[in-house]
Amino acid sequence: MTEMQPDEHYSDFHWVEYLHGRIPQPEKTKMEEHLTVCEDCRTRLNICRAMHTLLGDKKASELGPAFLDAIAAFAAARAAPPATPAEGDSAGNS
Ligand SMILES: [Zn+2]
Repeated sequence: MTEMQPDEHYSDFHWVEYLHGRIPQPEKTKMEEHLTVCEDCRTRLNICRAMHTLLGDKKASELGPAFLDAIAAFAAARAAPPATPAEGDSAGNS
């Protein structure tokens, strides 16, 4: 194993906090290091940044869980792989 695997992912909430500058060191450095190895979290951060730009000073917590839900759904939709037909034995079994 030579590939670096992130131990854990950060939630949308973490990235919103990060964008607000509310993540203290050394956690902030850890998150930035995680970004370099985790494309999933980079996508997440980009989405949160877009939302953050749209919403201005509003906090995610003011908007309720529905907001984080919407972000998560959006992220999931973007991250979803294209539909691939299952390989192997389909209906051709005779
Ligand atoms: Zn991650």
